[in-house]
Parts: sequence; structure tokens; C-alpha cells
Amino acid sequence: MLVVMKAHATEEQVRAVCEKIESLGYRAHPIPGAQRTAIGITGNKGAMEPGALEEMSGVQELIQVSKPYKLVSRDVKEEDTVIQFPGSDGSFGGRDLGIVAGPCSIESREQAFTIAERVAKAGARFFRGGAYKPRTSPYAFQGMGEDGLKIMAEIRERYGLRIITEALDDESLELVAEYADVVQIGARNMQNFSLLKKAGRQRKPVMLKRGMAATLEEFLMAAEYILSEGNYRVILCERGVRTFADHTRNTLDLSIVPAVQRLSHLPIVVDPSHGTGKRNKVGPLSRAAVAVGADGLMVEVHHDPDHALSDGMQSIFPDQFDELMQEIRQIAAILHRNVQESRTFPATAKAGR
Ligand code: PEP
Ligand code: MN
Repeated sequence: MLVVMKAHATEEQVRAVCEKIESLGYRAHPIPGAQRTAIGITGNKGAMEPGALEEMSGVQELIQVSKPYKLVSRDVKEEDTVIQFPGSDGSFGGRDLGIVAGPCSIESREQAFTIAERVAKAGARFFRGGAYKPRTSPYAFQGMGEDGLKIMAEIRERYGLRIITEALDDESLELVAEYADVVQIGARNMQNFSLLKKAGRQRKPVMLKRGMAATLEEFLMAAEYILSEGNYRVILCERGVRTFADHTRNTLDLSIVPAVQRLSHLPIVVDPSHGTGKRNKVGPLSRAAVAVGADGLMVEVHHDPDHALSDGMQSIFPDQFDELMQEIRQIAAILHRNVQESRTFPATAKAGR
């Protein structure tokens, strides 16, 4: 259920309605909009009786939200959610595309700084890199753990890049939430409901990757778990799904971008690296993702992919990333969107210092 407040409802009236909802054992989610505030009601006690709220002052109307997902739905919030970061011009969901680039894994300080410098110069505002890696084999590189997070925090200081990295479980979530600007929940954890709830209880924005066999509704329901705990800053990420096709690692489902945008106010970005698994397809699918209206890209970049400890085959070279940024600037402009300009940094004596 959704309570729509009158356009001129006061803060006290909104607060009183929220208190009433909570006193009935439900959770109230006030969502300010351009015209009016709406208050989403969630809870697992079944549908709420509207009677108690209908007559409260400032209330315009009560609407039953028929979809299983509520807070992520455009029924509850019509305007796009824009996720911004204080003191930084990187964002997701607005006119600017959120461009995230970096290696699959943080492998060393030198590797991470070398790549960060290149992607920052090319114009990316977000740096990715796994410190906790969900690997198919228990014998494969599992990530540098907290040392990797520390390297990323140094990169933020040096290049002003915002940091996105994956939390695999409760323990890593706490550390990732401490160091990173955005907590990534990976495809394999998209339906790890206890982890989603925990991600909803911490303050950092969450990038939620689509599960490899998840429907659109399952994807949005997973996001709903995070919002239902009070964290409304969620970025969705399409990263390909499993199909019979075997010419790519996964099948990148670009049609989900306009489908999500129709149903939800949350930003959605595309990861063409895991989506295709092949370096030569990352450029074309990145261009297509921008053309289809994605709110950003997440791209794996490595300066020496033949020796990468994970996902070298799908990592593009820094020069290719540079070229890609120039191409997508032109595509974005046609759609009245913007990809930020390349930047220069004073030279570092040695990678990292
Ligand atoms: C990643 O982005 O590093 C990753 C492991 O992706 P996914 O969860 O989509 O497989
Ligand atoms: Mn990877």
C-alpha cells in the first residue's frame, strides 16, 4: 500500500502518518517526490486496513500497489532515482552516465594503481576491483581481502575515483561497507536474502548484479529486499544470463534495460565484460548498452590481461578503454546524456606513490 500525501502536506503531517503506520506494526518509507511525498508501507503481516490512515490530515489518497515489488516500483516513485556522491561528480541515474572500470581482481598495489591511473585519465569516475572473489574453483585466486580494500582506498585518495567492490558474505560486507563507496552484491548472491537484508541495513549504496538465471521480477524483488530495510540507494546491473548460446560466456540481455526503466525508478547499468566473457565483444556491447539507454557501464580493464589472476580473457586494454570512452561520448550525446571528460593527473614517480 502507498499513502500519497497532498502536495502541500507539512513535514509534521508526513511524520504523523509514518508514526501511525509504525504503531500498527508496519514499516513506513517516506519517499519525497517533485510534486508530493509518498509513503510506502511494507511488512509481512498481510495487507493493511486503510481505514486508520485515510482520514489523517495531509493524506490525499491510499493506493494498493498490485505488483509484488513495491518500493522499487515507479508506482511508488515516479522520478528516476539519482545516486550521487558528496564532493564528486560521478553519479548513477541522472544525465551523466556512471562509468565504472578496473580489473576483475585487485592483484597488487602496482597493478591496481597502473590501471586506476589509466581509467581515471580516460574519464571513469568509479573504480572497480574485487578483494573478495566468488570463484568457481576453490583453488583459484580468492582475492587479497582487506589488503585489497586498503589499496582501493588509496586509489580513491590519489585519483578521486569512487570505489566499488564486492561483498561476498556477512563478514566481508562489514569491511567493504567501511572502505568502499558502493557495495557490490554479485550475481551468485542475488538471492542471498540475508546478505541483501544486511546490505539494506548499512548506509553505502549497493550495486546489485542480476543472478545468472534471474527473471526481471526476481531481480526487482532482490532489490526490494535492500530497500525494504531502509537503503534506497540501489543500482541494478545487468551482467548476462545463462542460455544455450555458447559463443559468449553469458548472454547479455540488453532488453532488460528499458524493461526495468519502465517498471522501476532505480538506475540500471550494464556489465559487458561478464556479459560476454570475450574482450573483442566488450566494445560493441558497451556501445549497444549506452544506445539502449543504460545509466552506466561496468567494464573490466587490465594492462596485462594475459597474466591477470582472474578474467583476463574479458578484460580490455587501457587503450581500448580510452577509445571506448570516446565512442560512447558520441552515442550518449545523441540521447542527451553525458559521459564525463578525460582528465590529467600530475605524474607519479612510481605506480602508486
Ligand atoms: C564481478 O563483477 O567481479 C563479478 C564476479 O561479477 P558477477 O557477480 O556478475 O559474476
Ligand atoms: Mn570478473
